[in-house]
Amino acid sequence: MRFSGFRVIREALTGHKGWGPLWRDPAPKPEYDFVIIGGGGHGLATAYYLAKTFGRSRVAVLEKGWLGSGNIGRNTTIIRSNYLLPGNEPFYEFSMKLWENLEQETNFNSMVSQRGIINLIHTDAQRDAYRRRGNAMILAGADAELLSPDELRKKVPFLNYDNARFPIKGGLLQKRAGTARHDGVAWGYARGADTHGVDIIQNCEVTGMRIKSGKILGVETTKGYIAAGKVGVAVAGNSSRVMCMAGMRLPIESHVLQAFVSEGLKPVIPGVITFGAGHFYVSQSDKGGLVFGGDIDGYNSYAQRGNMPVVEDVLEGGMALMPMIGRARLLRSWGGIMDMSMDGSPIIDRTSIDGLYFNGGWCYGGFKATPASGYAFAHLLATDRSHETARAYRFDRFARGYLIDEKGVGAQPNLH
Ligand SMILES: Cc1cc2nc3c(=O)[nH]c(=O)nc-3n(C[C@H](O)[C@H](O)[C@H](O)COP(=O)(O)OP(=O)(O)OC[C@H]3O[C@@H](n4cnc5c(N)ncnc54)[C@H](O)[C@@H]3O)c2cc1C
Repeated sequence: MRFSGFRVIREALTGHKGWGPLWRDPAPKPEYDFVIIGGGGHGLATAYYLAKTFGRSRVAVLEKGWLGSGNIGRNTTIIRSNYLLPGNEPFYEFSMKLWENLEQETNFNSMVSQRGIINLIHTDAQRDAYRRRGNAMILAGADAELLSPDELRKKVPFLNYDNARFPIKGGLLQKRAGTARHDGVAWGYARGADTHGVDIIQNCEVTGMRIKSGKILGVETTKGYIAAGKVGVAVAGNSSRVMCMAGMRLPIESHVLQAFVSEGLKPVIPGVITFGAGHFYVSQSDKGGLVFGGDIDGYNSYAQRGNMPVVEDVLEGGMALMPMIGRARLLRSWGGIMDMSMDGSPIIDRTSIDGLYFNGGWCYGGFKATPASGYAFAHLLATDRSHETARAYRFDRFARGYLIDEKGVGAQPNLH
């Protein structure tokens, strides 16, 4: 079933009786060539590109809950490619290009909106750092503009420019960045994967891995044993728990990150804005809610809910940046589990177990990576070679010391 404007009109005139489910609900088969553990954005995108681009059949996605129950449905929806380091920027720019064509590719309205992102500058040193970052972005084929305070005031007049403690001295703008409807991205990839024959099996938790003589044979699940030629793990906040089933310890810690949404307001914020003197960022959803967030909760946890000290910290950041936010009422908040890697950058790699592949360590930046992560992981699963933009994302960088430390804070996952 193809979606189109014509189809919407036809259904409107005939009582909306022609819409079917977006994907099938199959029982698991005893064996697949490829089993992807985790039906989040990355797992679904991987299955989609495996089937569609790399022409692989007999692919299954196993999801322990429902599609969208993990971080893909919990993030603050920001997509961007404003990275500095050569290991990161080409990968995120590749992702940005895939975002730009995603809705045509999957024939699904994922509400990709290139409304821009502005990183605010508060000191002269920060201006130098952002100028360097902007140049690195342009060299990698992305777009970047340095804004003066006057240009910024015209675009976002409501900020607290003359705050004595955090004066705003300019901003780094990426116009092609923006937001996308997070669960719509999961649904679009799920529908696309299903159309290409992928079995998406919900409420099917992987509880163990069958490994013999250093090779993976299949996975134990709550719906029985499923044999697999290759197994790809893409379980975001549960990475350490799932890889533990294969006897592997990861350079990853799990932390909670919270998100907040205000009551619906008239359009006020044109794009995404990040505070440069504290951890606070904000955008406005199409329904009008201000969507914002800040730091992780600061201690390890697998609970998908947040704690009060960070609520206070995030709201303080908001008040310092745009005091008008104090007039808005908070509608809801929630938490998700981040798999924080030691250098803040992800891992897409083979493992020491033949046929077992890993994708994770996305910290709190994995939503924007969804298309490229899926593509690169599918490339690795299909060809056993890293995609050209993901070559740096290997396990051995931690042993060899070639960290991709975008923030420059060292091996401290709680700071990335
Ligand atoms: C509050 C918050 C704000 C964020 N904001 C942004 C942002 O603005 N921009 C950005 O780029 N990133 C953001 N992120 C990060 C981003 O959401 C994640 O990095 C990304 O979604 C992780 O990949 P995923 O979609 O595949 O994860 P998930 O959706 O978590 O998918 C993993 C899936 O694996 C399943 N699973 C786990 N264990 C098993 C098992 N044993 N068997 C079967 N299935 C299993 C889980 O149920 C889950 O559905 C944010 C995250 C949070 C929580």
